[in-house]
Amino acid sequence: MYTLTYESVATETLKSFEMEELLEKARENNMRDDITGCLIYYKGGFVQLLEGDKEKIEALYAKIEIDPRHKNVTIFSEDEISKRTFPNWGMAYYPINENNTNQYEYEQFKRNLILLSDLVEPTNITSKQFWKKIKTMIAEPPM
Ligand code: FAD
Repeated sequence: MYTLTYESVATETLKSFEMEELLEKARENNMRDDITGCLIYYKGGFVQLLEGDKEKIEALYAKIEIDPRHKNVTIFSEDEISKRTFPNWGMAYYPINENNTNQYEYEQFKRNLILLSDLVEPTNITSKQFWKKIKTMIAEPPM
């Protein structure tokens, strides 16, 4: 099996329903292709980890890379793996409202992500890098 993690920048701020559309499609395709992982959308940026059959991941990444909903898509770690970090598709999503970023929701979101990162056992370098990126990202002050 194979895993990769990338980061990217949303072309425009995604509305909740657009994010739901994206997730619905992703879940449907990933279930069909036995791909698992985690997608974080935060302050206009995406970080995603994908794991599964190498050819399937490469085919998916080729589609993701040219998706007009984001840009600057950059892989920052990849690995051959024998065990999945996310046995099921997992996702944390924070629907940031452009006009009011609620401090309570923000703190809750950070707490949940840190909890999740502690629960998920990072079994390879790529998932370690993924969580390192997330922790660095959420350590930044809100916009
Ligand atoms: P179809 O559903 O038939 O889509 C046809 C085309 O329409 C595709 O080129 C698609 O990119 C485009 N499209 C659809 N909706 C929109 C929209 N609202 N705005 C602009 N273009 C649109 N897909 C997965 O299968 N698994 C994932 O884990 C996954 N993660 C993603 C993470 C991010 C950050 C982004 C931006 C996209 C992700 N996608 C994921 C979507 C992926 O880029 C493709 O859109 C999707 O895989 C295409 O599915 P399909 O081949 O069934 O084509």
